[in-house]
Amino acid sequence: MKNYKIAVIAGDGIGKEVTDEGIKVLQAIEKLDNRMAFSFEYFPWGCEYYKKTGKVMDVDGLDKLKEFDAIYLGAVGAPDVPDHISLRDLLIKIRQGFDQYVNLRPVKLLQGAPCPLIGKKENDINMTVVRENSEGEYAGTGDWLYKDKPQEVVLQTSVFSRMGTERIIRYAYELARKEHKSITSISKGNALNYSMVFWDKIFAEVGKEYPDVKQYSYLVDAAAMFFVKDPARFEVVVTSNLFGDILTDLGAAIAGGMGLAAGANINPEKKFPSMFEPIHGSAPDIAGRGIANPMAAICSIAQLLEFFGEKTWSDKIIAAIEKVLVDKKVLPADFAGTAATKEVGSEIRRQLRII
Ligand code: NAD
Ligand code: MN
Repeated sequence: MKNYKIAVIAGDGIGKEVTDEGIKVLQAIEKLDNRMAFSFEYFPWGCEYYKKTGKVMDVDGLDKLKEFDAIYLGAVGAPDVPDHISLRDLLIKIRQGFDQYVNLRPVKLLQGAPCPLIGKKENDINMTVVRENSEGEYAGTGDWLYKDKPQEVVLQTSVFSRMGTERIIRYAYELARKEHKSITSISKGNALNYSMVFWDKIFAEVGKEYPDVKQYSYLVDAAAMFFVKDPARFEVVVTSNLFGDILTDLGAAIAGGMGLAAGANINPEKKFPSMFEPIHGSAPDIAGRGIANPMAAICSIAQLLEFFGEKTWSDKIIAAIEKVLVDKKVLPADFAGTAATKEVGSEIRRQLRII
């Protein structure tokens, strides 16, 4: 029997409410499948922890997380802590520290999910966004000159290394080849005359090794427009850290909303643990009321199981969510229902046992 060790960072706001439901899904699977067991260790990091200790996570946090098979993250962020502190000292520290250079974000319209685009069916919105997750615009380097003086200037430097750019583009090409899909690179070479000209060059260069994969290239502003007007043209999408961040919120919006969108932060070499999370934040506006939609957090459990090689269970989780969405009897508030987080979680587990 395989025993998977999972580190849970529930974080702030609705983070704990939604990860509780994801954990219960794994516990249900453990009962249904005696090949697998899961153990959980909880880390109380995030903004509340910061307010008590002055640190968002322990100084030796990465050492503590190193031994786990995966990290399950809720969300971090609180209105009274500057967002760049919680984001950079926890989320980005783990992504970069564990070289989770692939951020895999499925944008898929599930059966029964509310779609704001008129006339779009499941087949029209079914893409995987491969976002660069270790450098680019989020490299964290820059300068702040003449602070608070009239001549104040800030520089935020993007870093695109050949190694970093090549490996993410290659990962996306491999995925497209494996799934017999087209690949679309999204960049902005017309305005960003260093970083994105370089990106486009690497995309074309690596593309020569994949003559069997249909290759497209879009400017990010045009791509944003086509995400709304004609999302069917995108299958595997590869893009930079910032563009991927923004486009996947748009992707979430066209595929049912933030309540359904998950993302995996992957270290493909498995040298370090990978991290799975809903892409939404801590939602302070609804936190503590028990009404958050746990589907995104449960979708990220599906991604975690797929990463462990348990594709059948991953597919079953998505099918269970689809069943709940199609039935429309137990829906959360963001889908115009009245069910509490726990009720939605429990209904998904009930469907999972039937499937
Ligand atoms: P958010 O995703 O928390 O909320 C945006 C809107 O979507 C809110 O109206 C919220 O109620 C709603 N929403 C989000 N998730 C939902 C769910 N599961 N069910 C129902 N409704 C949901 O984004 P924000 O308001 O921009 O940020 C709030 C805080 O979260 C900030 O501190 C931000 O830095 C942080 N944040 C963290 C992460 C992360 O930890 N990965 C990601 C994004 C934002
Ligand atoms: Mn984001």
